[in-house]
Amino acid sequence: MTIKVQTPIVEIDGDEMTRIIWQMVKDRLLLPYMQFETLYYDLHVQHRDRTEDKVTAEAARAIARHGVGVKCATITPNAARVREYGLKMQWPSPNGTIRGILDGTVFREPILLENIPPTVRTWKKPIVIGRHAYGDVYKNQEIQVPGPGRGELVFTPADGGEPIRRRIQEFAGPGVLQGIHNTEHSIRSFAQSCIRYAINQRMPLWFAAKDTISKTYHAYFRDIFQEEVDKCESEMEASGASYFYTLIDDAVARIIRHEGGILWACMNYDGDVMSDMLASGFGSLALMKSVLVSPTGQMEFEAAHGTVQRHYYAHLKGETTSTNSTATIFAWTGALARRGELDGTSEVIDFCRKLEAAVIETIEGGTMTKDLARVSDPPMDHFATTSGFIDAVRDRLEEKL
Ligand code: NAP
Ligand code: MG
Repeated sequence: MTIKVQTPIVEIDGDEMTRIIWQMVKDRLLLPYMQFETLYYDLHVQHRDRTEDKVTAEAARAIARHGVGVKCATITPNAARVREYGLKMQWPSPNGTIRGILDGTVFREPILLENIPPTVRTWKKPIVIGRHAYGDVYKNQEIQVPGPGRGELVFTPADGGEPIRRRIQEFAGPGVLQGIHNTEHSIRSFAQSCIRYAINQRMPLWFAAKDTISKTYHAYFRDIFQEEVDKCESEMEASGASYFYTLIDDAVARIIRHEGGILWACMNYDGDVMSDMLASGFGSLALMKSVLVSPTGQMEFEAAHGTVQRHYYAHLKGETTSTNSTATIFAWTGALARRGELDGTSEVIDFCRKLEAAVIETIEGGTMTKDLARVSDPPMDHFATTSGFIDAVRDRLEEKL
């Protein structure tokens, strides 16, 4: 029996160990059971280099046109990578480029397993983070102040109007200065994406900022969120979603004793920091799903982790590896199920749910990779290889079909 996926999805291939896993997952868990076409974009770092990185933008635009994409982890080149792969330059982060084109928000959700208890006892359900991915400190200008002088913030209107100036500091000696910004458009898109996600998942939505201190910048985020929530009030209520605003420090204090089952919308920096805390608190980076959602509903699914470089070098030396493919499998099932939803093909969604269940049962049944064996309860003294784990998932899946 093969299940047919009606519309092609955008497939974005990547680098190193995740590229190896990518092929194994397709060959052993998907293609034997499903008939699907992909629009294939190869983001291998050397192919990005050959195309002057044009392939990355093309892949993003393909998702914008076709609605659903799935992405393998990719190298963001630094100086060492430029030498290693003989690149022309340090190409920008592919995820940054794709996010920019889709104007999207990244949602990260942990996969919960019975035998991988979260470090935080009260966490019973996933805590999803929605991270604003534009501006703030990630698009800043900084000055290392060499000595006495005045630090100022200046806005010069394009229409020739009078500039607005604020004195930041009168420096008596050396120091440091930073300027950050955000835009109404980006904050509004972010709020809308979060509200959409909360409605779809029927989840409470939290947003937190530091508006007691930052009475203009952070308050601007708070007010835009509230305006967007007000526009969707009845839809949120009907779906069982809700909205809660609080101070960021209060949110952190509450999260640590919350049972979960919420979407936490975070400003860019908070989302960066808090998503790493949650990933490690919930067990492993390899259990973290990630989806980029545009304000108009296009979605790109991926694993939250990187290319697992160290495992790849071991693989190249011919050593056996134990790399966890869970998040990569869930990226594929997420994308294919979303396609099934848009196409109205319930058999596609059904297959994806069975494959996800097969992964969970395999791990809960005691077959897991090294990263999980370390944190499992009861502790495991043996672990599966990269390939062995995928085969064990396939055996479980076969029982369900
Ligand atoms: P990483 O690939 O996520 O790996 C960090 C460490 O976490 C690994 O060395 C491994 O620990 C563990 N780990 C992560 N995923 C695992 C998995 N599936 N199974 C088992 N263990 C796993 O991050 P990185 O080493 O910082 O970055 C490597 C490359 O990935 C970089 O070139 C970076 O640019 C890129 N990156 C890409 C993305 C993306 O495309 N979304 C995201 C992050 C990083 P042990 O070595 O201790 O086993
Ligand atoms: Mg981070």
